[in-house]
Amino acid sequence: MKIALFNNNQIGVVQGDRVIDIGDLISWDKSNPQTSLENLMTNYEDLKAKIVEYIPSGTTYPLSEVKLQAPVPNPSKIVAAPINYILHRNEMNEQFHTSPSTVDKLGFFLKSPSSIIGPDDTVLLPFRDRRTDHEAEIAFVVGKQAKDVPAHEAKDYIFGYLALMDITVRGKEDRPWRKSFDTFTPIGPWIVTGDEVENPNQLDMKLWVGEELRQSTNTENLIYDCYRFFEAVTSVMTLYPGDIVTTGTPEGVGPITEGDTVRIHIDRIGEFSVNVQYKVGV
Ligand code: MN
Repeated sequence: MKIALFNNNQIGVVQGDRVIDIGDLISWDKSNPQTSLENLMTNYEDLKAKIVEYIPSGTTYPLSEVKLQAPVPNPSKIVAAPINYILHRNEMNEQFHTSPSTVDKLGFFLKSPSSIIGPDDTVLLPFRDRRTDHEAEIAFVVGKQAKDVPAHEAKDYIFGYLALMDITVRGKEDRPWRKSFDTFTPIGPWIVTGDEVENPNQLDMKLWVGEELRQSTNTENLIYDCYRFFEAVTSVMTLYPGDIVTTGTPEGVGPITEGDTVRIHIDRIGEFSVNVQYKVGV
């Protein structure tokens, strides 16, 4: 199932080129979409059949006429992998030759949840004299509280998947500083539940700036795949329903500038674009 947040915090299920509003069925509170989403995820197994039954009678909208919002509006945290594809490690000149992944050496980092934006929103560049890059990533949203979960059980805790851009200022500051500016975490276009994605560790992923293809990989090239990264994260911290975990970017990262349109596509998940401008006053 594809679960979308749209217009003014309405909740819907996407089927083909339409979105069906399921708010009335699940007592959705538009004034608190994050908590409502967490309730939906917690009760999803019970609600799933009711949602399927409700869909033919629900109010529907053409996708082309709605404004999609970030499908997870305000997680308690965003956990991110530093370098998790071998070819990206090489392009970043990371000096960890004895280990395949910097996850082994550096662990992982947090991005500020306030950096989240949605499809068709605008990334605001904070500097004219520093390079800011796109990073295409597959991310997932946690469905159940999780601590010390082995990789082979991770699937039971992951509610669904989404595409994520980890926008990053290059430089020597710590990663959370360089990656947490407001607007630096575009997510979308919706959440695709795990049952519909099937294997998240074997999906084509691409990112374009304008018409130029910048990044193209398959998630089978992840060093720590979604499940193993989940194990690594939960060995350190408790994950709560609604938290986002993003798995790192492949090779091909590059700069973005004012006027660019950046588009990400992941098979079985979908695609969305964002615009790029300088922040007012810089
Ligand atoms: Mn990244």
